[in-house]
Amino acid sequence: MLKGIAASAGIACAKAYKLEQPVVVIEKKSIEDADAEIAKLDAALAKTVADIEGVKSRAAKRLSDEELAVFDAHLMMANDPELVGQMRTMIRNDLVNAEYAADEVSKMMVAMFESMDNDYFRERAADIKDVTFRMKCNLLGLEIPDLSSISEPTIIVAHDLTPSDTAQLNEYVRGFVTEIGGKTSHSAIMANSLEIPAVVGTGAVLSETKNGDLIGLDAIEGEVFINPDEETVALLAKKEKDYLEEKRELKILVNAKSITTDGHEVELAGNIGNAKDAEQVVANGGEGVGLFRTEFLYMDNDHFPTEEEQFNVYKQVLETLNGKKVVVRTLDIGGDKKLSYFTFPEEMNPFLGYRAIRLCLDKTDIFKTQLRALCRASVYGKLCIMFPMIATVNEFRQAKALFEECKAELLAEGVAVSDDIQVGMMVEIPAAAVLADEFSKYADFFSIGTNDLIQYSMAADRMSQKVAYLYQPYNPAILRLINMTIKGAHKNGKWVGMCGAMAGEPYAVPILLGLGLDEFSMSATQILKARKVVNSLSYEEMQKLADNCLNMDTAEEVLDYVKKETAK
Ligand code: PEP
Ligand code: MG
Repeated sequence: MLKGIAASAGIACAKAYKLEQPVVVIEKKSIEDADAEIAKLDAALAKTVADIEGVKSRAAKRLSDEELAVFDAHLMMANDPELVGQMRTMIRNDLVNAEYAADEVSKMMVAMFESMDNDYFRERAADIKDVTFRMKCNLLGLEIPDLSSISEPTIIVAHDLTPSDTAQLNEYVRGFVTEIGGKTSHSAIMANSLEIPAVVGTGAVLSETKNGDLIGLDAIEGEVFINPDEETVALLAKKEKDYLEEKRELKILVNAKSITTDGHEVELAGNIGNAKDAEQVVANGGEGVGLFRTEFLYMDNDHFPTEEEQFNVYKQVLETLNGKKVVVRTLDIGGDKKLSYFTFPEEMNPFLGYRAIRLCLDKTDIFKTQLRALCRASVYGKLCIMFPMIATVNEFRQAKALFEECKAELLAEGVAVSDDIQVGMMVEIPAAAVLADEFSKYADFFSIGTNDLIQYSMAADRMSQKVAYLYQPYNPAILRLINMTIKGAHKNGKWVGMCGAMAGEPYAVPILLGLGLDEFSMSATQILKARKVVNSLSYEEMQKLADNCLNMDTAEEVLDYVKKETAK
């Protein structure tokens, strides 16, 4: 058994297909007849275009236009007169063989695109590699495996899968295993959208496998079994059946309301880190985005993202949510989240230091760029803005004033800004929870960040394994802080969400529901399970349950009690 990362959930058992690309060895040869060599190059190019078109038309049965775009990009490259023009020129001027010219020009172009300071061009480098690899294979008469021709149940075993490999996977492909890659690698993303189980990053698996070996894939645990025994096969089959049954059951809930048996309705939303995640939230029945962690926009960059760059991302997310609420958290940087292009001061306790709103209120130029981008995007949907790490009412007032300033500036410039933007705050510092009834005079909403609220309440670093036992969402002290926050908001007619990890925990949902939480925001894949829980409970009973939890002594007592009560 090999351990890897479960990149796309599911279970499968099928024969192995080892995807091994031909090894291309290029020799430099002198030629005499340049015209004949160019004709060879052109023939290889024509075959390459035909190959890509063939793969595309086979893939079109399964993929959306957007997913097929990878082939259009390849066709565009193959038809680019610049690329092949340079190869022809090299053959004619240097009197070298076509393979060598193709290889040299491709290496030069790839290096040029890879060095560019722009994601779009860096992706084009991958396209050039893909297309010129095909050309070289065609010139050398080497066969490229055609995944789209697989016609029996198969699990693909590969070092890695390129975008065009994954786009070729047909209905016979039951899963794949790759030696490298992580949860966010291209192949993982594609596996998720095709709903194919995938385990990635297993390390050496090709050398351990023969074509035709039986592979058992547990892409829930991230386990790969090579030639498993009968017992394991039976176990995997049972697990697959249960998994598919639950999936079917949950799918029915995608368009359902989140409503208790006695008619109390709440909102289940998703947490996102980029525009792509927003699509997952919608696909999983999210009623909105409850937390957009915008720091990733800054961390995945080599400069502070400009107003225009940010505007485009926010607009895209708002449009994806199509009128459903999107809560965007302003920059939450510092602590463990660093930027390569900004020097943070040396501090003894960065988690208690210069970070998030503290930094933004100091560096108002950085903050205002983000607020302006948000205001401009606000006309494309239902935008809520929230400030992270608010400790005092004055911090909130200052941040809100800067928002008003940006809005007024834009309106004066003649730029449209929605007049319906809600401005709220995270409650993740105990001081804010305790004073929630005062904060709620100013904030339009709260979102409880339990990851930090627990760390600060228990004085236990959330990154430390040694004190991980103090991460206690069920501790009555935490439940009382949450209760104070909710009651404090409701006193002034404001709504309260939760976007910390606690919101998605199946045994926390009943308590939070009973405490009166209005919105639960979690990772997209947790939404439907949470809906199933909400829809099975009575609000009246959960209010009593929550009340009892508030008066217990320990986290263990609370958890045992909730488990017992909800099992009834
Ligand atoms: C939290 O603190 O609970 C939260 C949602 O924010 P983050 O995990 O990004 O700090
Ligand atoms: Mg936080």
